[in-house]
Amino acid sequence: MKTQILDANSPEAVALAARLFSQGELVGFPTETVYGLGANALDREAVLSIFAAKGRPADNPLIVHIWNRDQLEGLCTIPEGAEKLMDAFWPGPLTMLFPRTEKIPDEVTAGLPTVAIRMPSMPCTRRLLQVCGLPIAAPSANRSGRPSPTTAAHVMEDMEGRIPLILDGGECQVGLESTVLDLTHGQPTILRPGGITREMIAETLGTEVALAGSILRPLQPDEKALSPGMRYKHYAPKGNVTLVEGGEEAVLRELRERCLADRQEGRRSCVLCFTEHLEALRDCDPHDIGSRTDDREVAHRLFDTLRQLDHEGMETIYSEVVPPEGVGLAVMNRLGRAAAFRTIRV
Ligand code: AMP
Ligand code: MG
Repeated sequence: MKTQILDANSPEAVALAARLFSQGELVGFPTETVYGLGANALDREAVLSIFAAKGRPADNPLIVHIWNRDQLEGLCTIPEGAEKLMDAFWPGPLTMLFPRTEKIPDEVTAGLPTVAIRMPSMPCTRRLLQVCGLPIAAPSANRSGRPSPTTAAHVMEDMEGRIPLILDGGECQVGLESTVLDLTHGQPTILRPGGITREMIAETLGTEVALAGSILRPLQPDEKALSPGMRYKHYAPKGNVTLVEGGEEAVLRELRERCLADRQEGRRSCVLCFTEHLEALRDCDPHDIGSRTDDREVAHRLFDTLRQLDHEGMETIYSEVVPPEGVGLAVMNRLGRAAAFRTIRV
């Protein structure tokens, strides 16, 4: 199959994508979080082909994307608190779990009683969803286990020959997947942190918001994953990533010593550091993760940087960390998983 890339802002390209969705085909499309690999959520066969194209385990459910709230009608019921959060954060990078009806195929939810739904905010994504008029099931448009794509070129890297069309909307603004929030089990619980932060949700609801246990550590062998995706190794470059945490001077010294020691032993090694530290680490092939004062910038660049490491054939990578607050929590969840949570404290 030949994979075309077309401009996400062209009405002809959007019309073609909508036609492909109605015929049960897959389309890669941009959102403000990451690129999605979409199919008609009500078409079982089409949904199954998402799993095949990604190499995704069947027990990892998908997120359903809508452009207007009327589309919820008949698909699900609305848990307490959800309306308030929709008013505050939709359209935007917040996915919520809703008790579902039988209209949603089991393939979308991996047989779970809830369906994950969100309303993306990127204007071209909203137009696509409006023109096709269908709820679109879409996970991130990467091959399973690879970093999520934040450009059309990343999607091409992973999906060329597997899907007919990729809509190119440029770089994703947030750069990390949506926040996944469960309001169906009592205390609101973040299953996956993202661009809508715990602090923002707590303020809107006026209640405490819990975090799923495995956000900043590996899932224990006997622990049940609240969010099935948390069971899988994710976002891992081929090289070994190690996080270094502590006071600024000590961290810089450790990053440098580790990197140079690995090179002595013949390994390709580099560091991931803040813009402010590029100069201090100039002999360690520093990769800029953004300014230490701007966690949204770090989020925006993270997946592209991880993909870059593979292109460069890096074998060991030592990285600075951000405080796990605000969007920094989402950054540390993804970076932690890329590092299999290996951390050196200095
Ligand atoms: P992706 O879009 O590839 O980031 O994957 C969507 C993620 O949303 C999955 O890996 C799950 O962790 C989460 N998710 C989707 N549906 C549900 C659900 N019904 N219950 C819990 N988590 C879900
Ligand atoms: Mg994904």
